[in-house]
Amino acid sequence: MTGNIIDGKEIARQLRGALRSQVQSLTAEHAVTPGLAVILVGSNAASQLYVRMKKQACAEVGITSFSHELPDDTTEDALLSLIYTLNNHPAVHGILVQLPLPPHIHTQRIVEAISPDKDVDGFHPHNMGLLATGTPLFRPCTPWGCLELLRVSGVEVAGRHAVVVGRSNIVGKPVALMLLAEHATVTLCHSRTTHLAQQISQADILVAAIGQPEKIPGAWIKPGAVVIDVGINRRADGTLCGDVCFAEALPRVAAITPVPGGVGPMTIAMLLKNTVLGAERCIA
Ligand code: NDP
Repeated sequence: MTGNIIDGKEIARQLRGALRSQVQSLTAEHAVTPGLAVILVGSNAASQLYVRMKKQACAEVGITSFSHELPDDTTEDALLSLIYTLNNHPAVHGILVQLPLPPHIHTQRIVEAISPDKDVDGFHPHNMGLLATGTPLFRPCTPWGCLELLRVSGVEVAGRHAVVVGRSNIVGKPVALMLLAEHATVTLCHSRTTHLAQQISQADILVAAIGQPEKIPGAWIKPGAVVIDVGINRRADGTLCGDVCFAEALPRVAAITPVPGGVGPMTIAMLLKNTVLGAERCIA
């Protein structure tokens, strides 16, 4: 933490360092090298960038990445068939399908085709169910990254009031479940929540995952709160910002994540961690 700014980039760098050592031990002691299959369908520029970053991060920690870049017109059956092959591939411990998929492919069908034992994104209903019952196998990466930022920053979660804004299956809902598992009292807000400002003002820990630039003004935030801003938005001038107005919030809060450089780097780090966990389970 620099002042009251939670440095996600640095925390993710340290986590990758620890993972590199874990990968070295796995390889030396068990002759197992963690493997991540990364599937990209189509030519979405942002997805191509994310896939490139994930492959680079794998290389940095010694995880083998198996890249499958498929054309836009790939059929759902062809994609399913690739996933079934990877489900049974012994060198692959994690399977990641980069979202969004082209509109002719049913995303949920693809997510459910991935073996829950290799579901390093943690999106499979089986893994969501295990998370909800408090016995997670793979935790979704972005929410887990949020919890890791709180843990490393020494933020007490138990007994505190956490307010999560956003209820998507990939961020809001799982982050609320994880905070609950850490014994926070959790309020989950969404677009139909009335008196949003009042709800937010009660938060000891605020997690914003809305996807609207600087929607939450500093004045709504309780002095001394901890803010985890998941949002990644582009302002009219092209610069990136979160869902919280960072400049207004900074003087009020005990700690806050910046955008960029907060939650974003943690998402990839947790993906690597899930892949290493997948490989470790194979030898257990
Ligand atoms: P979704 O669009 O799937 O969900 C947005 C959620 O915010 C919905 O639950 C919606 O409510 C709620 N919401 C929207 N507007 C308001 C509002 N005015 N007041 C209260 N709630 C509102 O987004 P995601 O969860 O996928 O992503 C959220 C943000 O996080 C995005 O900016 C995304 O780019 C970013 N993100 C960042 C990642 C990272 O690695 N840092 C990874 C994933 C996402 P309702 O359900 O009622 O519609």
